[in-house]
Amino acid sequence: MSDGPVGVVELADRISELLYGIAGWLTVGVGLLLTGAAFAFGYSVAAGAARVDAAVGAGLLALFVLLAGLVTVALGLFLNPRFRRRLDRRHELTQFGRVRSVDRRVVRPEEDCLERCVDCGDRVEKGLVRRYREEYALAGLPVYTRSEGYNHYCLECATAELRGEDVADSVSDAVTDRSDRSLERAER
Ligand SMILES: [Zn+2]
Repeated sequence: MSDGPVGVVELADRISELLYGIAGWLTVGVGLLLTGAAFAFGYSVAAGAARVDAAVGAGLLALFVLLAGLVTVALGLFLNPRFRRRLDRRHELTQFGRVRSVDRRVVRPEEDCLERCVDCGDRVEKGLVRRYREEYALAGLPVYTRSEGYNHYCLECATAELRGEDVADSVSDAVTDRSDRSLERAER
């Protein structure tokens, strides 16, 4: 991270992310204030002895402020990069508690990947990387990541394994078992 422009770009990215985060939470705060004000206003109108047409007008205004408040809260949450990332990797809505997930992506030669294949030990110039995550979710939304591990596979091993997965869809239990072992290896 200390070598020149890369470090600076990374720093800039982090700062902008932080600022977006702050802007997001500020917007959430303003939205909550507006929502609260709308509730207080609506309540005072309902409790007060105002004339009926005035009360209706005030009620509509309160409703408008309430909607504006809720929209602002939603916008603020959406502005927040951390929240957006979590939204991106949400699970099923019915997921509560510990969730294990695996996703994978292709490793390209131009990445200069320094990892070694977990199956054969060769350098992974191109191939596949699998990410194992264990996190806690509320209604599918990850709130805490307990562990995260990466397994790299060279092209040969990845191809062999993917072909195996296609053929042996029915023995998915065995594959899950294998993933668990790989996860332990990755966490070591
Ligand atoms: Zn390999």
